[in-house]
Amino acid sequence: MSGNLVLRGGRVIDPANGIDRIADVVIADGKIAGFDIDAPRNAEVVDAAGAIVTPGLIDLHTHVYWGGTSLGVDPDDYALKSACTTLVDAGSAGPGNYHGFAKHVIEPAFSRVLAYLHVSFAGIYAFSSGVRVGESDNMRLMAAREAAIVARAHPDTVIGIKVRLGAHASGPSGIMPLDVALDVADETGLPLMVHIDEPPPSYGEVVSRLRKGDVLTHCFRPFPNAPMHGDGTVRAEVRAARERGVIFDIAHGQGSFSWKSARAMLAEGFRPDVISSDIHSLCINGPAHDNLRVMTKFMALGWSLPEVVEASSVAPARALRRDDLGHLGIGAVGDVSVFREAMGDIALDDVTGLVINYDRCLTSVGIARAGMWRAA
Ligand SMILES: [Zn+2]
Repeated sequence: MSGNLVLRGGRVIDPANGIDRIADVVIADGKIAGFDIDAPRNAEVVDAAGAIVTPGLIDLHTHVYWGGTSLGVDPDDYALKSACTTLVDAGSAGPGNYHGFAKHVIEPAFSRVLAYLHVSFAGIYAFSSGVRVGESDNMRLMAAREAAIVARAHPDTVIGIKVRLGAHASGPSGIMPLDVALDVADETGLPLMVHIDEPPPSYGEVVSRLRKGDVLTHCFRPFPNAPMHGDGTVRAEVRAARERGVIFDIAHGQGSFSWKSARAMLAEGFRPDVISSDIHSLCINGPAHDNLRVMTKFMALGWSLPEVVEASSVAPARALRRDDLGHLGIGAVGDVSVFREAMGDIALDDVTGLVINYDRCLTSVGIARAGMWRAA
């Protein structure tokens, strides 16, 4: 899958290369060929005047095993809604059902789908409004050997290992599933993404075990297990983890982003590394909606457009260890996102129901994957 494409006259924001100006982006044979140069003769031309053109946005935390898990949403519908070209599934599938995810969802998708493989055998298998069984609460489901085998069998799509911890996800097993997940990550040489919900285990205990390049997801969750103390100061273990190179990822979802935590952390100068949605079937109609909405929330917190683009492109590409994604340098993969900054009042709600009103919102125009264009 590759094409020739020109995105004409948009505001090009490419934080990795320090670019923010009006330009034509030219893609040839599925790769970035340059700005304001002659296009291949048969190139498709998209008028991007008045729109924003960025490296293909990466949503680092999604659930897109549609049909195979109750929380999955359709990847291509979601990619167009959110103007994301790369969707990283965060442990929907484990080694017991990853082959089906690869064959039935990842391979046919237009969007680029990568995955953290869950260390629990069947991934997140029972997450709905009526039935919720934590996939980490029974240690017999921890599948170290199988996870290592499946990760090695799918080197093009498995980019890391996932585990979920907390009263909801691991219950009586507490922090023990992290021992298994760390062992698999070590054995396979892959980074780990760790979910944290309510204690036990505590935020501090979990983040203290993560290594350089591992991702702590749901990093600005509300109390209990918020990243800061009640007086608003950042927990010492959180600062120590950043010093070590642990990556902090938003993953908004249904229960994991609060204005209170975000404001307290930003006031302390502690910014998340990555903005992501944790999109799934129970939060796609709010409060998360999609990653453009989560980016909009950070603009409401005072971030500039280039800053939210950076946290959704080159920053997640770094977490994925993919230097061909997340920027528009010559030779990079021809994945591009196009969206608009629409003016008009919008109510932005967090997971506690607190609403902040804002005067603009980012809305999708379309995406290109490897130079192939699809309009939203
Ligand atoms: Zn999730």
